[in-house]
Amino acid sequence: MRRNNGTKLNLYVHFPFCRSKCAYCALHSQGGVPEAVRTAYAARIVREIEGVSTSRGGGGLGTGRPYHTVYLGGGTPALCDLRPVCAAVRDAFGTVDEFTVELNPCDITPSLLDDLIEGGVNRISMGVQSLDDNVLRAMGRPHTAAAAEAAFRAIRAAGFGNAGFDLIAGWPGTTESSWGDTVARACALDPDHVSVYALIREPGTVLDNAVREGRLVPMDDDAVLSMHDAAREALAEIGLARYEVSNFARPGFECRHNLSVWRGEDYAGLGSGAHGREGLRRTVGNDAGGYDVSMLTAEEDALERALFTLRMAEGMDLDEMAGRWPILGSRMEGWRNELESLVPHGIAKNVSGSRFVLTDRGYEVCDAVISRLAG
Ligand code: SF4
Repeated sequence: MRRNNGTKLNLYVHFPFCRSKCAYCALHSQGGVPEAVRTAYAARIVREIEGVSTSRGGGGLGTGRPYHTVYLGGGTPALCDLRPVCAAVRDAFGTVDEFTVELNPCDITPSLLDDLIEGGVNRISMGVQSLDDNVLRAMGRPHTAAAAEAAFRAIRAAGFGNAGFDLIAGWPGTTESSWGDTVARACALDPDHVSVYALIREPGTVLDNAVREGRLVPMDDDAVLSMHDAAREALAEIGLARYEVSNFARPGFECRHNLSVWRGEDYAGLGSGAHGREGLRRTVGNDAGGYDVSMLTAEEDALERALFTLRMAEGMDLDEMAGRWPILGSRMEGWRNELESLVPHGIAKNVSGSRFVLTDRGYEVCDAVISRLAG
């Protein structure tokens, strides 16, 4: 593998295929894509990964730099044959610190799990979203709650010691008791990592259309927040702490890929719809098999990287930010004043001289805090 003196990179590979489209989903993915197209796509991904070690990488790749995390996401990666993809990762990067694959319950078979272990995958993130069959059906998820539970047990039985799943809070009509049941069943699975996302009504989705036509009534924000709080409390009881607005993990099981990105590291994005960030360069994989490239100014880049740290439990250290991104130095006094003004309101805490973290209440208004600092 070719290396240079650059810092380590993180690689995200996007697989834009799904069995069918879930009602709430606006991610870059499509259902019903023929197998021949998926096979050709996986072959292209293999070629691009191989390109990293020969400096022929696609527009989204930082060539010749060491990688320490790889994340195959989607979409539904398992709708492609992942064996050659895993082999290409191993050949190009050797053993990486963390190699995650996203799976859906319907994908999971003992042979797939064996192939992934054989291929060097050491972390599984499964899409569950709910453990209420009525909610799953309404969401358009092609699995039952029992199938999701069985799939998670199969992941453990295959030997994955680092595994978790996603849940979505706030599906219209979800009752407190249905959500409580989902959370209790989720905790009983003893996951290492859980992401709890508040439902977003993305324009153009089945959910959005149903709300517009009055067939579904969205839950109010307070009800969604209280569902999120209930999940946070239950997850804390089984030892999963919040380390980002929507993410909870046992100590040491935080997603390293995401942590690296959130701490401001570079990442390469391969495939249709994958985003990449290398220095000032931003890339997005297009559907023609290429990469659209744009450049940020040094200040835009630094702001993006620095402000995201407020979404994490480790928070933002103003001295560290000023040292890392001198171009932001003149903003630090204003940021300190702004963050200090939030302390009496219980939104932020000053945990050491120059480090501020948002409180649980602060996470609820995180986007507003970040946009004030960015302004
Ligand atoms: S499986 Fe995941 S990516 Fe595919 S439509 Fe459903 S939520 Fe979206």
